[in-house]
Amino acid sequence: MATAAPLSSARAWQPRRLLATPSALGWDHGRQVAERVAALGIEVVELPSDRIKLDLPDDPRRAYAEAKNTLALVVASPAKRRLQPIAPSADWRVDLAEGCPAHCSYCYLAGSLKGPPITRVYANLPEIMEELPRHLGQGKVTSRSRARAHEGTTYEASCYTDPLALEHLTGSLSALIGYMGDWDADAQLRFTTKFADVSPLLGLRHGGRVRMRASINPPRFARFEGGTSRVADRLRALRRMADAGYKVGLTIAPIIAAGGWEVAYAGLIADAAAALNDVPDLDLTVELITHRFTPGSKAVLDSWYPGSSLEMDPAARSEKRTKFGSIKHVYDANTMKALRSFFEQEISRALPDARILYWT
Ligand code: SF4
Repeated sequence: MATAAPLSSARAWQPRRLLATPSALGWDHGRQVAERVAALGIEVVELPSDRIKLDLPDDPRRAYAEAKNTLALVVASPAKRRLQPIAPSADWRVDLAEGCPAHCSYCYLAGSLKGPPITRVYANLPEIMEELPRHLGQGKVTSRSRARAHEGTTYEASCYTDPLALEHLTGSLSALIGYMGDWDADAQLRFTTKFADVSPLLGLRHGGRVRMRASINPPRFARFEGGTSRVADRLRALRRMADAGYKVGLTIAPIIAAGGWEVAYAGLIADAAAALNDVPDLDLTVELITHRFTPGSKAVLDSWYPGSSLEMDPAARSEKRTKFGSIKHVYDANTMKALRSFFEQEISRALPDARILYWT
């Protein structure tokens, strides 16, 4: 049986400052976050109003760096708290924060969040959690899928952030897991992460209603994932979570079809199999997401990471229209076919008990 080796993760994120709004400090959780952050020696700026005004330098590189180093403590508005369906992952999206401190050259947030990339964490957790029971049994994504309906109503917490990246500063993910543990309902919380410090989560009463997925890529592509934990550490963290009775999963994303991908991904899947070897009653899923970009996300990512060697050449891709009419650049049909058949075969060979939830 594999043993849980000590973790050596990326250093936990230390923002340069926390900007706290008065409304956020009116919540118990908001005050606790401010206290935690201050105890770590980080400057806490109490803003005079709820408006966050950033004086960022004109130089785009410096503006990016400064925004990425800024944490804001705010109240999620009713619009932000309204749960939205999030296919193909879950029935509903639940957000504890918006933004992420890491620096991935392909970050999907570049296409979905507007403005400078500061990270906003929410203080009004009770109001956010209140939305969950209102949506129980109302799901139209996984609940409508014959293969996944047994998961219950699913709630995805990593659409607009990496919640584990912020956990040492907020405790929000632990609070939500504790909520799921106490909530005796046919429901499941899901989150995926590129971070590895799961220590605060291991002893929580999760009631078997939480699935953590490690977001992984072969180490040779980890150079596109600045500020995240090493892939081996993410897998060790997943093992620790499985040993603590959590449901677990692999988010293999984004799948990058650069030369030699077969060897690289076969190695990754073998590493995952070794990390999860002999977990009693392992409940393991796999999600497979190929690399894609939009004209908008490419423009943002090119400005954030001008030196990145990640291929994002529209001429080398096929165009796909989304249901909203916008364009996505994806791998061509032959590459997609080769990738898909490789992953399906390799996973069924190395991880025969894993369930593939979707391919995209
Ligand atoms: S860890 Fe995820 S959310 Fe954070 S920068 Fe990387 S891709 Fe974006």
